[in-house]
Amino acid sequence: MKSLSLSDKLSLLIVAGVILSVGILGLYFDGFLKENDLKSAQKRIQHGFFQLNSDLTNLESELKKGIDFVQTDEPFLASIGLVNNYQDKQHYNAILLDEEKKRIARTLLDKVKFSLNTDIALYDKNEELMAYVYKKRNGYCLNFISYDRGEKALYSRCENEETYTKHPYSPHSLIRFNHAAYYSDDAVRNDSVITYHLNDGTLIIRSHRNIVDTAGNIEAHIEMSRMLGSAYFSKLSDNLGLSVTVSRDPAYAATASRLQASISGDSLTISQNATDYIGVASHPTFDKNAYLIIAMNKAPLTAALDDNRRRLLVIMAVVIGIALLVLRFIMHKNLVKPLDAMMKQIRKIEAQDYSTSDLLRTGDELELISRNVNRLAGTIRERESALRQSQINFKHLSFHDPLTDLPNRRMFMMRLEHAIERHKHDGNKLAVLFFDLDEFKHVNDALSHHVGDTLLKEVAGRLSNTVRSADTIARIGGDEFNVLIEDVKAVRDVEIIVEKMLADFKTPFLCEGHDILTSASIGIALYPDDGEDAYTLIKHADLAMYQAKDDGRNHYHFYSRALSDYVTMKAGYISALKTALNSGEGFHLYYQPKISMHTCEIVGIEALVRWERDNIGTVYPDQFIPLAEETRLIIPLGEQILLQAFTDFVALRREGYPIEKISVNVSPVQLINSDMIRTLKRAIRMTGIRPDQIELEITENYIATNEQETLRTLQRLREMNVDLSIDDFGTGYSSMSYLHKLPVTRLKIDKSFIEHLPDSAESVAVVKAIIAMAKTFNLSITAEGVETDAQLAFLKAEQCDEIQGYYFSKPLSLKELKALCEQRSVAAKC
Ligand code: C2E
Ligand code: MG
Ligand code: MG
Repeated sequence: MKSLSLSDKLSLLIVAGVILSVGILGLYFDGFLKENDLKSAQKRIQHGFFQLNSDLTNLESELKKGIDFVQTDEPFLASIGLVNNYQDKQHYNAILLDEEKKRIARTLLDKVKFSLNTDIALYDKNEELMAYVYKKRNGYCLNFISYDRGEKALYSRCENEETYTKHPYSPHSLIRFNHAAYYSDDAVRNDSVITYHLNDGTLIIRSHRNIVDTAGNIEAHIEMSRMLGSAYFSKLSDNLGLSVTVSRDPAYAATASRLQASISGDSLTISQNATDYIGVASHPTFDKNAYLIIAMNKAPLTAALDDNRRRLLVIMAVVIGIALLVLRFIMHKNLVKPLDAMMKQIRKIEAQDYSTSDLLRTGDELELISRNVNRLAGTIRERESALRQSQINFKHLSFHDPLTDLPNRRMFMMRLEHAIERHKHDGNKLAVLFFDLDEFKHVNDALSHHVGDTLLKEVAGRLSNTVRSADTIARIGGDEFNVLIEDVKAVRDVEIIVEKMLADFKTPFLCEGHDILTSASIGIALYPDDGEDAYTLIKHADLAMYQAKDDGRNHYHFYSRALSDYVTMKAGYISALKTALNSGEGFHLYYQPKISMHTCEIVGIEALVRWERDNIGTVYPDQFIPLAEETRLIIPLGEQILLQAFTDFVALRREGYPIEKISVNVSPVQLINSDMIRTLKRAIRMTGIRPDQIELEITENYIATNEQETLRTLQRLREMNVDLSIDDFGTGYSSMSYLHKLPVTRLKIDKSFIEHLPDSAESVAVVKAIIAMAKTFNLSITAEGVETDAQLAFLKAEQCDEIQGYYFSKPLSLKELKALCEQRSVAAKC
């Protein structure tokens, strides 16, 4: 179905409105007319009753007056007296009495005719009909009752006849032979009385009067009637313009009683049916009530109403027509045209044209909407451009590192894949460098991440200067960068670039006021020699980078297959380490005695770990400790070693071996990454060893990592009363200058210095200096790796406190140690 336009809808609405309002108005006028009609009907019916009433009242008084003559008409009264006195029905004197009765009839005719009434009747003292006159169509007829041998006979003469005609008496329908007493005699003694009768639709009004003699006896009774028949009612109806009838139908009783109740009010209560308004007044008659009915025909009202409705329809059609025309015109000007213009504005936006359109100047809400549409277009324009910008930014971000703005791993991969595609055909090599800053974590930890970020940006800048613009540098995470060098003719070209990179790092980076000297390790993989796809090349460059780190940092390393094998082997090692650790089997402790130069006794032992591997045999710490450190497995392993060493030591002591101290090597990883203090306390608690029986050997490297933190940890260990020695002293970076600040108790001279004693002047100088310095700071001295008499002699001469080395004993199992202690061979060698 075709949808309606806005103006059609509005037109429909207005047409509906017009129909509704005209309809309501019509209904109102309809009701109004009906009401008016009812009121006028009430008035007219009321008037009708008034008229009827006044007719009846006049008639009553005329009827009364009409028989008043009997009071004064002496001859008439005398005639009555005569009849009364001489009438004998059996011996009836017709000559006398009939003549009297004719006279009486004559008088009656005069009276009834004079008053224009219908009939008049005279009854004798016995209340028997004497004479009467009644009106026929063509005039009045005179009648008297005569008797013939006791039988009634009627003599009649109509006005136009000369003589009376004798008939057998037959009762008249309205005038009875015997007078009926409708009233008490008293009521009619001095005055006339009116009675009403209804007969066959004719209302009869009758006046009565008694004729009384001086003694008060009733002499006669006279009655005169007027009949109001259909002629009267139709005439009255014509005069009033109503229909006036009389009826005995009791159905009118209810209406009559309502009218009776309202007769004193302003408006008469009338009823109505489909065709008429009806007013009914009840009127008492001699026997039953009669009802006077005045009806007013509704036909004129209905016609007026119909006419009114017709006119209304015409008005409605005209009004609707005009309204529609006007509406069309107004809407076209004020709605359709502006809406069209607005639709154009909106379509422009749909077509992504956000330029400002001409503003509608209607001065109403449409102008406001038009302004808002323009504003909307502006907003969308701004949002679209912001969206486009953010899409550009997003695209940039998805291919670049936000910190350095270098390409990221994704972009690097794409470029690398692209370059591989190209190099497949030209026969040139390409190089992938995996570049990792050495110990970048320390910069972050020590100088804040902000400085770390600045350093990364500086590094990115310096790297970018080193390579050609055609090459790609990408930051792929943390402190790792990948470099893609294309069109490599010879491996040496790559070496030159890499060496320049490392050389560039010799100049410190100035970051937020800090001069930071850092180095990098670089792994290199070449296409197609070390891999034919991007993923493998990057993986191999990464492996090579780790090798460079193992080489001692600040190095570069080319990928080789051996390296790959090494990595595989390393992975195998790590998994074996884990298995051994979890099973708690495989690791054993050996103990190497430490001999005091003062007493020539074994005063201490150093626990050294060994790993017995199935099918492989004994693995020495140098082969797995660095790996355990790298994987942090050294933490659980170190804990096991502490417990085992303490347990063995306590057992030895319990068995009576006079060894004073047990030394245990502790890795920097344990000290930095685990709660060493808690681990130690737990081991002490579990084994019952005294803290002063413990010596922990820490390396110089650890001391060099983080001076403040190291000092705190060492301090807390010392507070527990545990001895601390610096292992392999002389090989690391510990500065002599802060040695005095360290809470250590002993230095262990590394065996590399002992090895060349006493022949190497350099070693002699170092050892002498170390011993002198230890004395200055009041530290004990242990020389390790002592193998020869000469070495022992030199150290003795230099007043070294303690000796450890194969000269006295290799590291021994617990059982072997016990045997050694019992042999007492040590003292002999001393
Ligand atoms: P270190 O603590 O300096 O231990 C001394 C090393 O020198 C031991 O090697 C020992 O067997 C060896 N040695 C002792 N006297 C002589 C000698 O006269 N000549 C020669 N050539 N060597 C001698 P080992 O047992 O292979 O341990 C090597 C290193 O592994 C240890 O050096 C220590 O740093 C580390 N290590 C050993 N056991 C543990 C341990 O339980 N925990 C930790 N964290 N490190 C351990
Ligand atoms: Mg040691
Ligand atoms: Mg050592």
